[in-house]
Amino acid sequence: MKSCFVFGTRPEVIKIAPVYLYFKNLGEQVIAIATAQHREMMDMMVEVFGMKPEYDLDVMTHNQSLNTIVARVMERLEPVLMKEKPDIVFVQGDTTTAFTACLCAFHLSIPVAHIEAGLRSGNLYDPFPEELNRRLIDISCKYLFAPTEKAKQNLLREGIEENRIFVVGNSVIDALQLIRDRVNMISLRRKFTDSDGYILMTLHRRENIGERMRSVLRATTRFAQETGIKVIFPVHKNPRVRQIVSEEVGNNPSFILIEPVDYLHFLSLLDGAKFVVTDSGGVQEEAPSFKKFVVVVRETTERPELIEAGLGVLAGTSQQSVYSALNQANDKNLSSSENPFGDGKTSERIYRITRGDNVWC
Ligand code: UDP
Repeated sequence: MKSCFVFGTRPEVIKIAPVYLYFKNLGEQVIAIATAQHREMMDMMVEVFGMKPEYDLDVMTHNQSLNTIVARVMERLEPVLMKEKPDIVFVQGDTTTAFTACLCAFHLSIPVAHIEAGLRSGNLYDPFPEELNRRLIDISCKYLFAPTEKAKQNLLREGIEENRIFVVGNSVIDALQLIRDRVNMISLRRKFTDSDGYILMTLHRRENIGERMRSVLRATTRFAQETGIKVIFPVHKNPRVRQIVSEEVGNNPSFILIEPVDYLHFLSLLDGAKFVVTDSGGVQEEAPSFKKFVVVVRETTERPELIEAGLGVLAGTSQQSVYSALNQANDKNLSSSENPFGDGKTSERIYRITRGDNVWC
């Protein structure tokens, strides 16, 4: 059985790599296809996991629009799939790469497996365009690998047949377990800071770019100045994000602004943080494994499990609501590192299910 794994961005590599490596280590025929939707940040992760893509579609262009990405992935992926004739194509999450690869495979009548199926915010425009991407992918896949029971229920509510849905956990937990024991976390993060107990921040969501992002940064500035707590912030490569960050906190001594770091360094920073402020999906899923409370700076969430387990707060994006959430987070001390998103066995489950062994379900 030949499996193609298609990915184009940082989070896709992190969540596809453990599944790909699991298949590969068992001697399965695997083909890695990089679209390079986000060139630099994708490459950084491919290297960490030691993947060597057989194909690099190199679709990224300067100031690329979503439609340009769709067109370029479609055009460049089709000949590869026609040549390789895989039995199955794996896509992950909700990116434009994932949606387009799914559509391309569907047109060629190749079955698709969706890793991280069933996440829904309930608002088609938030996150944008991810909520539409995930819905379109889930309609058309053969295998829907839902991370949690709630994700499965979302799919059932949309009328998707139960025999296509498998609750397997989130492969991000497999990824962090693969990496975590490989390194000395403390010495890695000493490159950026002499002491622990800082806030770790990431911001990048398209729908937050603009006034929402500015409000989050202003609230964090106020909190950091009042408490003396530093903020370590690997700033996303998106030029629009970088401009806002530079204007709002570029010269602020409370902020340690750094380039995006590879996964080893990011997990080491997570390990030393007091708590996390983020609009990222993956970071919300990883933080509980490090006993870190998460301030989710978004208006909606497709990961209610975090909030319901008391491991984070949906802070919104107004200055006042974010400032209150930061104070709430500062008082939290999580004792258990039980993670509602997975147990590190997702790759094994996906392997067994695609091989017809449904013992897990
Ligand atoms: N991450 C990283 N380096 C960084 C920032 C984030 O390795 O400088 C990782 C993080 O651990 C998480 C993933 O990137 O697994 C999240 O990516 P992003 O926030 O871009 O996307 P999302 O998860 O929101 O789809």
